[in-house]
Amino acid sequence: MIDMTMDNVDVVVVGAGFGGLRALHALRQQGKKVQVIEASNDVGGVWYHNGYPGARCDVESYDYSYSFSEELEQEWVWSERYATQPEILRYINHVVERFDLRKHIRFQCALERAEYDTKAALWRVHCSDGTQWSTRFLIMAVGQLSTPKSPSYPGLDKYSGQLIYSAQWPKEPVDYTNKRVAIIGTGSSGMQMTPIIAQKAAHLTVFQRTPNYSVPASNAPISAEEDRRVKANYRQRREQAWNSPTGLGFKPGKQSALEVSPEERAQVYEAAWHRLGFGFALTYFDILLNKKANDTAAEFIRNKIASVIEKPELRAKLVPYDHAFAARRPSVDSGYFQAFNRENVELADLRESPILEFTAEGIRTNAKDHKFDIIIFATGFDAFTGSLLKPEILGRNALSLKEKWAAGPVTQLGIGTSGFPNLFVLVGPGSPSLLSNVMVSIEEQSDWLANMIDHVDRLGVKEVEVTEEAERAWVAHVNARAHETLYLTANSYYNGAEVAGKPRVFMPYSGGVRGYRRLLNKCATNGYEGFELRDKPLSLNGQAVNEGAKLTSVGTLDSPLSSVVA
Ligand SMILES: Cc1cc2nc3c(=O)[nH]c(=O)nc-3n(C[C@H](O)[C@H](O)[C@H](O)COP(=O)(O)OP(=O)(O)OC[C@H]3O[C@@H](n4cnc5c(N)ncnc54)[C@H](O)[C@@H]3O)c2cc1C
Repeated sequence: MIDMTMDNVDVVVVGAGFGGLRALHALRQQGKKVQVIEASNDVGGVWYHNGYPGARCDVESYDYSYSFSEELEQEWVWSERYATQPEILRYINHVVERFDLRKHIRFQCALERAEYDTKAALWRVHCSDGTQWSTRFLIMAVGQLSTPKSPSYPGLDKYSGQLIYSAQWPKEPVDYTNKRVAIIGTGSSGMQMTPIIAQKAAHLTVFQRTPNYSVPASNAPISAEEDRRVKANYRQRREQAWNSPTGLGFKPGKQSALEVSPEERAQVYEAAWHRLGFGFALTYFDILLNKKANDTAAEFIRNKIASVIEKPELRAKLVPYDHAFAARRPSVDSGYFQAFNRENVELADLRESPILEFTAEGIRTNAKDHKFDIIIFATGFDAFTGSLLKPEILGRNALSLKEKWAAGPVTQLGIGTSGFPNLFVLVGPGSPSLLSNVMVSIEEQSDWLANMIDHVDRLGVKEVEVTEEAERAWVAHVNARAHETLYLTANSYYNGAEVAGKPRVFMPYSGGVRGYRRLLNKCATNGYEGFELRDKPLSLNGQAVNEGAKLTSVGTLDSPLSSVVA
């Protein structure tokens, strides 16, 4: 490998998904010299990699799109309520060309190591293609669902058919027509691809570990009239999304699910079922907060699911029973459960008959030998921290991020962590992230970070670093908010339970995008409270490198953050 030392830049952004691209645009607007490095061949992040049949967003396209340019909003035409993966990828490429972003991105260039040069207050960035950058700021926009889990079944290498990962779907067409196909995993990806593959495969076997809740997408084409109507009031729609708890635009109902009659509740659920998608979870304000309230929604969904499954023995297996509705991420589906009414679709229940091994021809469970031409792993991700902890990141005193986060991620506002000056994370753990319309979170954080970097540049600040007190308070606050909800009652990727050996801590911030934005603003207004801004770097032992260096501003945390949440 050739060592190529590149120019110094102001900011290196790692990742060219929706997040990295948005950060790049915001920083370019501030006149910063930015280099984006991207491990894969092209832009798009998850939308580049997850090209499986049926892949589409489960937040409405009008809301799952950038809001920073009214011209962009007006000119782009979405064809469906929930856009497909190819359409989203076309949109991302359109944005990249329209705002001339591509020239700032280096592809096939994975961050392998970043070390903080304490004396110079610079990050030294080393990449897989031999390139090296020196940069003042390093922004990790590496994604929340960008490291697929790698299954380790015995005999996996013996299998002679086609093995595919839904999160690394091949770029060349996969022909599953008249083939015997297996899908392992029934999260959102498995649920989205099942009805599509079922239509053409000779036989489809779906391996299920945990039956999950799903709400119908009620997907539909967008008419020209609807497009005009949305675009005439787009600002209003955006305001509504920014001010809703999850960034989806749904306001939680004002009533408790327990204070209305069963008849009224049934009517309300019925109406929501047919049009709200994820919004179903907010029909009553306490569905995600109170188990008894949740039971009413869960029961309604179980009945709905059961009502479309024709075979009684399948009904018992497909209906979710072991966790509260939405405590794990529910799906928004288009005909998933109905697919099991087809003669060519079979359910393999992994709780009843676990996989013993892979064979040359397929999969052996303790119930039978399955033969497959194609096996698809839709087994999920090492969420939130998988991609953040893959590269070696060494902060002050060569402290590694892996060591620092050995017991789970610790951050101030999800944005930075002490010991790692000038390193920031986009939509990572400690922020609303996957508990929100991620697009809203990406835009909130990108603009905030670009403003902060511009602000500290003007002040001549060399180092911005989270204080230990601030991150302790933030972690306590994230936990306190999570305890108000039902999220902690289920095993899920929200709390690290999906990966063996991962620390069991709750990672996303459940206080909502509006509350979070208020905290970001309060932090900035109070001189970047919780961050130390230094006009000279600290030395290795924590003293100023040059005599007389002083702090231009010290973050203070007089009151616990929880007290300022609306
Ligand atoms: C199938 C699928 C559907 C989804 N649907 C929705 C939805 O409907 N609504 C919603 O809100 N969210 C959805 N999400 C969540 C999704 O992760 C976010 O919405 C959003 O796309 C994330 O953008 P990002 O830029 O933060 O991360 P990503 O899109 O994951 O991009 C991260 C990029 O960083 C690159 N990278 C990682 N490590 C390195 C490294 N060391 N060096 C260089 N490059 C690196 C990756 O190659 C990738 O291109 C979905 C996720 C998946 C997988």
